[in-house]
Amino acid sequence: MAWCLRGRELIRMHMDEIKKELASIIVTVKTRIDLEKRFGIDTITLSKSNKVTSRPLPNAVPQIKPIGATVVIKPIGQQISLLEVGTSVCPPSDSIKISDDQTFMGEKERKIKLLEELRGEMLVCHKCPLGKTRTNLVFGVGDPMAKLMFVGEAPGRDEDIQGEPFVGRAGQLLTKIIEAIGWKRSDVYIANVLKCRPPENRNPLPEEIVLCMPYLIKQIEIIQPKVLCALGTFAAQTLLNTKAPVGTLRGKFHEYKGIPMMVTYHPAYLLRNPNDKAKVWDDMKKVRDFLNELSGKDSKI
Ligand code: URA
Repeated sequence: MAWCLRGRELIRMHMDEIKKELASIIVTVKTRIDLEKRFGIDTITLSKSNKVTSRPLPNAVPQIKPIGATVVIKPIGQQISLLEVGTSVCPPSDSIKISDDQTFMGEKERKIKLLEELRGEMLVCHKCPLGKTRTNLVFGVGDPMAKLMFVGEAPGRDEDIQGEPFVGRAGQLLTKIIEAIGWKRSDVYIANVLKCRPPENRNPLPEEIVLCMPYLIKQIEIIQPKVLCALGTFAAQTLLNTKAPVGTLRGKFHEYKGIPMMVTYHPAYLLRNPNDKAKVWDDMKKVRDFLNELSGKDSKI
């Protein structure tokens, strides 16, 4: 009898896993369609030489729309409060709780494994030509259990050489920003919208964003940060599916799939416009206070 019950329980757990996987696939496909529409792409043709060509839709829709199927994204500019976010920012962990330590270890190992699998997938990704021109894949770096995740634009020259995001001048400034709120770089997770360097540091192309975005979505799903911080135009506009400028998006929490997301200026922009450093400091204080408040509510944070 006990054996039979255990069997049923295992089947139910399998079904739950399959349901989760299906939901994730639906969200990924929906996101891709939304992004393609927003960027006015109706076909992406990969020729033998891996050249990406696109044809604009006659009526591209630039307005703000929710990214995921089951996701409600608040209108841009509308702040979300900690109360609304509550303690369920992240979906419940599916690891089996034996003791606090063991649950934690299981969760961390699970995330490391999933991230490694994703990295493996990306190492052989040649969906766009950047896979051929890059020196190294710049997957992401940091604590897989991070509560705070930064999303930048795309690797530059230094990142391409070292295979790690934000290691050049802009990266050093980002490290200082993280330290200014009392954290270490290794406490957070850092990734980019694009994982391969665009030649000559040009802006990412819409096709490249559309093709690379599912990897970022997956990374966020695995890390499950309590707070996201979008650095600059490309990260903010892509994650929020908007064309609003960073200047109007920054300074308040938005929401990406239920995760509070701060938008702020990109460190590279700050290097060119040091007068705006105070604004980034304001934004980061909000992130720090938000996380502190959250940790006061939940002793596990
Ligand atoms: N700029 C980015 O957006 N990402 C990096 O990794 C480096 C510079």
